[in-house]
Amino acid sequence: MTANTETELAAVKASLASAEQLVAERDQRIAALERHTETVAKIMNDLLVGNQAAWIEWQHGAGAEAAMTWVEGSLMGVGVPGEDEPWAKEARAWYSANKSDQFPTCFCGRPSNILWMGRGFCSDAHLDQAQAKAKAEVAGKTGLPIFDGKSEDTEGGSCD
Ligand SMILES: [Zn+2]
Repeated sequence: MTANTETELAAVKASLASAEQLVAERDQRIAALERHTETVAKIMNDLLVGNQAAWIEWQHGAGAEAAMTWVEGSLMGVGVPGEDEPWAKEARAWYSANKSDQFPTCFCGRPSNILWMGRGFCSDAHLDQAQAKAKAEVAGKTGLPIFDGKSEDTEGGSCD
């Protein structure tokens, strides 16, 4: 073997060792993610089954009050909302403010449960208000009401 060949072989061996190290690290990360995913799936399963048990208790068992013990039991570890936490006394607002993918806050400052044009709204009334304002702005910018397919073309444009 020539000196050049030995140098090239050493470089290939070093590169192979580095690649084997990267694969081992990747495999460790994959195993950790698989364990994490399994834990999350178990938590989700138990929450859903607990909610189903609550529904069964409500419909076929001891009624709504007893069903709430299932719900309260599912909150072990997480806890129930503290009295002084924001929106802790309004179910819809609490959910909107604390769910994983929250909508943008309504212009009034309340958590949103309605999404329109990338903006969030806490109620139909505030959505209606924003839509009316947007409609007025569109009409104001063109000087014309929103095109209804019947008005004449006053812009003088051509479609060619
Ligand atoms: Zn609002």
